[in-house]
Order: sequence, then C-alpha cells, then structure tokens
Amino acid sequence: MFKIRNYINGELLPPLSNSYIDNYEPARGEVYSLIPRSSSEDLKLAIDAAKEAFPKWAATSKEVRSDFMRKISERIDERLEELAKAESKDNGKPLSLAMKVDIPRASKNFNFFSSAIKHFESESHFMEEGVLNYTLRSPIGIAACISPWNLPLYLFSWKIAPAIAAGNCVIAKPSEITPMTAYLLSEICQEVGLPKGVLNILHGYGHEIGKEMVAHDDISIISFTGGTKTGEDIASIAAPKFKKLSLELGGKNASMIFSDCNYEKMLKTTLRSVFANQGQICLCTSRLLVQRDIYEKFKADFVKGVKGLKVGDPNDPNTDQGAVVSEQHFKKVLSYIDLAQQEGGTVLCGGKAKDLSSEGKNGWFIEPTVIEGLDHSCRTNQEEIFGPVVTIQPFDKEEEALELANSTKYGLASVVWTENLSRAQRLATSLHSGICWINCWLVRDLRTPFGGVKQSGVGREGGFEVLKFFTEPKNVCIQFDR
Ligand code: NAD
Repeated sequence: MFKIRNYINGELLPPLSNSYIDNYEPARGEVYSLIPRSSSEDLKLAIDAAKEAFPKWAATSKEVRSDFMRKISERIDERLEELAKAESKDNGKPLSLAMKVDIPRASKNFNFFSSAIKHFESESHFMEEGVLNYTLRSPIGIAACISPWNLPLYLFSWKIAPAIAAGNCVIAKPSEITPMTAYLLSEICQEVGLPKGVLNILHGYGHEIGKEMVAHDDISIISFTGGTKTGEDIASIAAPKFKKLSLELGGKNASMIFSDCNYEKMLKTTLRSVFANQGQICLCTSRLLVQRDIYEKFKADFVKGVKGLKVGDPNDPNTDQGAVVSEQHFKKVLSYIDLAQQEGGTVLCGGKAKDLSSEGKNGWFIEPTVIEGLDHSCRTNQEEIFGPVVTIQPFDKEEEALELANSTKYGLASVVWTENLSRAQRLATSLHSGICWINCWLVRDLRTPFGGVKQSGVGREGGFEVLKFFTEPKNVCIQFDR
C-alpha cells in the first residue's frame, strides 16, 4: 500500500516511529494509502530545518520569493488533472469540482501572493513638528499552518503561500483525513527547488502532532482553519505563550431571501450555496430564511431542484454530489437529520444515506436534505452540521429576518437576496458576519479580508491583511532638525 511521507528539510521522509494511520477513500469506504503518524521526533527535525533556513529565507529578496511562488503555481497548473484526481479520491468530492475549483484555486493562491508580496507596502506617518514615523514589517520566524479536510489543497495553500511569501519558514499540517494533495505539494516544492527547510509538511493526528506544533516554543505564529472547539483548544495553549494567532472556525450561515429578489438567479445560486462540496464548505448556507409571500413557491421549486441533484460516483462528470468525507462525519450528519425530526422538523426531501449499487455501496453518500418546521432556537438551527442538510424558515419583515440570521453563536458568512439596494446595505451593515454576499455567493476576490466574527474566528486572511498577520510591524520614529 502506498505510504505518504513527511516533507522535512527538502526531503521526503518516513515518520521516525514508523507508525502509520489508515487513509480512506470515502466513495468506497476503503483504505487506499497510509499516512505518517508523526511525533515529536519528526517535529524536532522540521524545527531544526526551519530554524536553519529562516535567516537566509527572510533575507532573500521579494523578487526571488515571488519567483518561487509563481513556479509552484505553474507546476500545480501542469499537474492539474493528477492533483484533482487525488483530491477527489481522498475527499469524496466530484472530480469536476476539484478540476474547476479546488486545484485551480490552490494555484491562484500561490500566484496571487507571488504578486501581492511585491506590492505590499508599509505605512509612514509624518508629524508637523519635524518627526517621521515609518513602519518596518519583518518576517516573524517559524509559522505553523494547520488546515482542515473540506478544501484540502485550496486551504492548505491559502495559508502557506502568504506565510512563505512574507519571508517566514513554515511547518504545515494538513488534515489526517485528506493528506494526499499536501504530499503532492511536497513533490512540487522539490521540483521547483524551493530552498530546504522553508516549507516542512508533517502528517498525523491533530491531537498529537498538531497539538505539539501549537505548543512548541520555537513556533511563534499559528494560522489555523478548522472547527470552533479545536480553535478553542489551540487558543488555550497558544495564548499563555503569547503566540500570534489566526483562527478561521465553524459557521451556521444564513441566506435571507426576499420576495423582490431576482428569483431565477437566487434559486440556481442557492442550490449551489447549500450543496456544493456536499455542503462541506465553511461558507455554505445551512439556514434558508424566506419571506412568507414566496415561501410556498420557493419551497416547491427548491425541493424540485434538490431532487434533481445527482448523488454518486465522484468520477462521473454528471455527478453533483459525491461522498461525505469519512464514516465518522457520515454518522454525525445522519444523527443531525434524526435530531431535526425529534425536534419536530419535517424532512421535505432526502433524509437518509444514499444507497448506491456496485462500487459505491460501501461509500459514505447522503441524500441532499431539506427540513422545515423548526424553531430558530433548536439545536438543528444552532449547531454546525457541515453536510448536505439545510433548514427553511419563513419570515415576514426585514427586522425579523435579521434577528433570525444573527441568532447563532457563529458569524462567518451571510447572503442577502433582494433588489432593494437600501435594504441590502442596511442588512450588510447589521448582519453579524465577516463576509456578506448580496445577490451572489462564493464570488471571491483574493484581495478582500476573509474571516468570521463571534465563534467563527479571530483575525482575517486574504490580501494585505494576511501579509500583515505574517509580518511583525515595528515603528521607527525619527526626529529631525528643522
Ligand atoms: P478540525 O478542527 O477537526 O481539524 C482541523 C485541523 O486541525 C486538522 O488538520 C486537525 O488534524 C487539526 N487538529 C485537530 N485537533 C488539533 C489540536 N488539538 N491541535 C492542533 N491541531 C489540531 O476540523 P475539520 O473537521 O478538519 O474541519 C471542519 C471544520 O473546519 C468545520 O467546523 C468548518 O466550518 C471549519 N472550516 C472553517 C473555515 C473558515 O474559513 N472559517 C474553512 C473551512 C473549514
């Protein structure tokens, strides 16, 4: 069976303990490769490599760093099909999605920061009394980048690219549930000749090697994307050590649909915003709030659309929805569908595992599910499910929709569907979310700040925000004779 290796000091290495974790293919429910179960000895090698590389990499010109980013991006483009197949097999997502979204975006992440680092500027503040302040921004040191399984290479590269572009060295850990494209990225770094130790990739369990990375005294900056509970655990270790921390966490996103919206566009986009990637995108809509005068029409049209989604073989180009990522997650999502019914909800469509014949019969497929009749305060409407499940709730007035949308502990993304510009602007201002889409969803400009409020996270990624995060500002104040 194929054994993934760690990437340390420019080399592909087995874990020193020689211990491995099973890696499953979700569409078949079978183990197909093995993942290093890294330990503190592997971390020590990676830390030593990063420490040695850091002074030289930090002193390397932006042009040279930018050039490496661009070469990595180009190599990802060249290996697009291979990477997309690996991502789909590892995660269960449709191959067509990995080809169109995941891998092209990973390439764009490197390409974007290859350019952004050359345009990144620092501030100066002039005082009339003959004083000039200017801000020096320096790389910080060794950064830990820890990412989840839902958009594996997409989110892994979204952290690594700015960290390295800014002159830091990185120890990165992909999710142990989807490690394969991170491994292929190690190969790409070798192919482009990225200097040894600049990027080190360790595989393994979050509560083992992930936790060790977070606690390690030589790691002074942590960029984490994952669940809110994990974020809390990480913060509890990192905060007393005064580490710089960025946390991108869970969500329970609402979409507010007003009767004056562009109905056809809304319907088409909403199907995608709920079920793309089996509903396993932190930005996916999980609560649909629909104005009462179009509620019944929307319900009928939406359910019809959902019933038309094809669930099955991720390699079939006509598949809309593949498998969810793991058996554990499959059981979790199904348990929430049960809970919704215990809480009084009515399942309008879906509601159970999808039975597939032949190859996919042991895979973790779930029918896209729509539930109505639940109060906003119940667990189904408050807790993150992170699967192909959505609830619909009616509302009468704008204020009521706003109250419902803001009623959870999360605050990542929101969507507003209305042709009323003033209303859209009022809501954009009042919604508790770090991202608000008006009449669209998942339209992304990589220059914009990305992140959540409340328990959806702390800090912002994207554009110059993340380059600020990955650098340390120092104010230099000069008084001159007039
Ligand atoms: P998770 O928190 O279980 O794991 C995320 C990563 O953290 C993995 O690499 C894991 O190995 C590691 N990890 C786990 N415990 C750790 C610990 N104690 N110390 C250090 N590292 C540890 O999350 P997941 O199940 O992989 O991903 C799903 C979650 O991610 C959802 O809640 C989703 O909303 C969230 N997410 C958020 C965003 C965002 O941008 N806000 C984007 C994607 C996913």
